[in-house]
Amino acid sequence: MNTDRRKVVLIGTGMVGMSFAYALVNQGGICNELVLIDVNKGRAMGEAMDLNHGLAFGKSNMKIFAGEYSDCKDADIVVIAAGVAQKEGETRLDLLQRNSEVFRSIITPVVKSGFDGIFLVATNPVDIMTRVTYELSRFGASRVIGTGTSLDTARLRYLLGDYFMVDPKNIHAYVIGEHGDSEFVPISQMMLATKHVSEILEDERNSYCLDDMQKIEEQVRTAAYKIIEAKRATYYGIGMAITRIVKAILGDENSVVTVSAKLCGEYGSKNVFIGVPCIIGRNGVKEILELSLTDDEMEKFRNSAAVLEESFDGLQL
Ligand code: NAD
Repeated sequence: MNTDRRKVVLIGTGMVGMSFAYALVNQGGICNELVLIDVNKGRAMGEAMDLNHGLAFGKSNMKIFAGEYSDCKDADIVVIAAGVAQKEGETRLDLLQRNSEVFRSIITPVVKSGFDGIFLVATNPVDIMTRVTYELSRFGASRVIGTGTSLDTARLRYLLGDYFMVDPKNIHAYVIGEHGDSEFVPISQMMLATKHVSEILEDERNSYCLDDMQKIEEQVRTAAYKIIEAKRATYYGIGMAITRIVKAILGDENSVVTVSAKLCGEYGSKNVFIGVPCIIGRNGVKEILELSLTDDEMEKFRNSAAVLEESFDGLQL
């Protein structure tokens, strides 16, 4: 990877893609070249103009332009946030099938350009679309990453921070599994600084309780539905989650993020792409961390992996 020039290509300049681009520009210093690609070329061009006009107020300079797939050739990361919306009467599998076709029209020219970096997928259902990217690109698994449960984990840490009245940065807790209805929180693994949350819950001198943890877990699981009901789509949070992962890769941070990664025997599963805590650095997924789940949590994990396997098996690639 070229460490002097950090180039990101964004494919899909809709709400999610542009929330990411806006966060990238505002945080500054993460990359110095951003290329925007969309099937709607006018939209990508307009977005590039709009972002460029804000650069004078930004933290660092960047080259931003609407480009072509050939621009992926020397990119470090290709972020995919392109997708089609569910049509009335369409099943989830129909949508998946159509999004897979969209992905074929994207991955083929990206790979043809000579791109040799890391794919980062945000399009839903993100775990399946990440696996589709892996299958179509034939890249090594460590270089194909989905945003997974990174946003769900951020939501969890925010809610737990609020509950325990501590900075969410001092909460170490993860949402794992499918980015969807079967995701869950391994409560046995939650830590406040270096103290197990389960220990805090058992302490009768405070009013914290397990019931509240389950309510928080439910709030995290249903957050997207609530936001969509209120404002039709979610995009700022995921835009910042993508930015976080891009920063971890380009900065070779070796940071732990719950991304969608391909399991190779971890948690007793193989092949499935699923949200798990991973160490992320310059070459993508450096390591998948295997948490010591309880039997009950392992059962939830297996169930979530099975949901994803079933969806993927229904696809024709
Ligand atoms: P959007 O409709 O605003 O944008 C989608 C963009 O994709 C549009 O600009 C469209 O022109 C483009 N596009 C469609 N087909 C294309 C193709 N073949 N090539 C290039 N571009 C193409 O949608 P959005 O709100 O930005 O959401 C994008 C995706 O992100 C959706 O799948 C959504 O479900 C997902 N999402 C993921 C998370 C997460 O946590 N992973 C959170 C929120 C949304």
